[in-house]
Amino acid sequence: MQVPTEMEKQGRCSLCGKGLLKPCRIDKTFEYGDEDTNLITVSARDVPVEVCEACGEIYSGPDAARVEHEAICRALGLLPPSEIRRIREQFGPSQEEFAELTGIGVATISRWERGRMLQNKAMDRYLRLLDHYPDNRRRLESLNGPVETELPPGRRIMAPDSA
Ligand SMILES: [Zn+2]
Repeated sequence: MQVPTEMEKQGRCSLCGKGLLKPCRIDKTFEYGDEDTNLITVSARDVPVEVCEACGEIYSGPDAARVEHEAICRALGLLPPSEIRRIREQFGPSQEEFAELTGIGVATISRWERGRMLQNKAMDRYLRLLDHYPDNRRRLESLNGPVETELPPGRRIMAPDSA
């Protein structure tokens, strides 16, 4: 009896156990949003999936999820992760630099770029303005200057135990 190699095991349908999985691209239409409110229909084109040659079962992986997420962003009128990344890279190669400049948290930026979280409309517009007017970088940098860190006397926030 022949022991299947790792590649053969991965490429076989786990539903019927017979067919080999063939990569292909499909168009998908699905609904996105809350159950009752704001339910939208999303059409994703050329979603990369694997199809069983024997039973026709469709397998979706991270690549499919990425394409579907981009379709959701388009349907909602929001920047997709690839665009957010492109804009961020104009302002600094690292997410940390961009976070410092914009005041947006590093974890948030990371989630947007990985498609784990959708930015709200205000943040989406903030990103679009930065993209169109990169000159705002200097204005943001000036906000991070030492002036902002000093509170005037009497306006200091007291520690709770000294009250
Ligand atoms: Zn199958």
